[in-house]
Amino acid sequence: MSARIVLATHNAHKVEEFQAIVARVRPDLEVIGYDGPEPVEDGVTFEQNALIKARVAHRHTGLPALADDSGICVDVLGGSPGVFSAYWAGHRKDSAANTELLLDQLADVADPHRSAQFVSVIALVADDREDTVRGEWPGRLATEISGDGGFGYDPIFIPEGQDAERERTVGQWSAQEKNAASHRARAFERLVPLLTRV
Ligand code: IMP
Repeated sequence: MSARIVLATHNAHKVEEFQAIVARVRPDLEVIGYDGPEPVEDGVTFEQNALIKARVAHRHTGLPALADDSGICVDVLGGSPGVFSAYWAGHRKDSAANTELLLDQLADVADPHRSAQFVSVIALVADDREDTVRGEWPGRLATEISGDGGFGYDPIFIPEGQDAERERTVGQWSAQEKNAASHRARAFERLVPLLTRV
């Protein structure tokens, strides 16, 4: 029987994404979704929340467990929304409302003070270890929504390093472009060496 690792999410898309990265280094390792009690994510850092989720999945399955936590951190807001990104405009997890609120909050802030980062932290918890890795994707907030690709804050985030004449929000990027450059891709790269020891 092949070895298994559990991913603390009910999101089938995330399971596929993790399966692909794990297959690159550990083709023998099967990634399975987690189907147990939901922890309260009451950490104040991405690392704390990712660990909270991975620990619960590990405890309930006995398997090594992965969990991720992510969000957007705006410098002029002292790093907010941060771990509150999903609920920034209230408990409904309403992406359109979250995005609008953030644009409103920065309405009087001009470039170059609109800098922000997408952050992704992945935790790995097993019997004898707890590790976290972090990926950051620097950029700045647009002044209006552009594009309908991706999800969450993608339509208002302009990644660094683009040709100034042809800058686009992540909402205007293809999924392929985003997956090669994103905060999650960067965290995944750091996860790879850890997977060899599971
Ligand atoms: P979670 O890590 O799945 O809980 O996501 C937290 C929240 O951060 C999401 O609901 C989005 O609002 C935001 N977020 C995280 N990653 C991205 C991304 O790649 N694009 C846009 N928004 C994101």
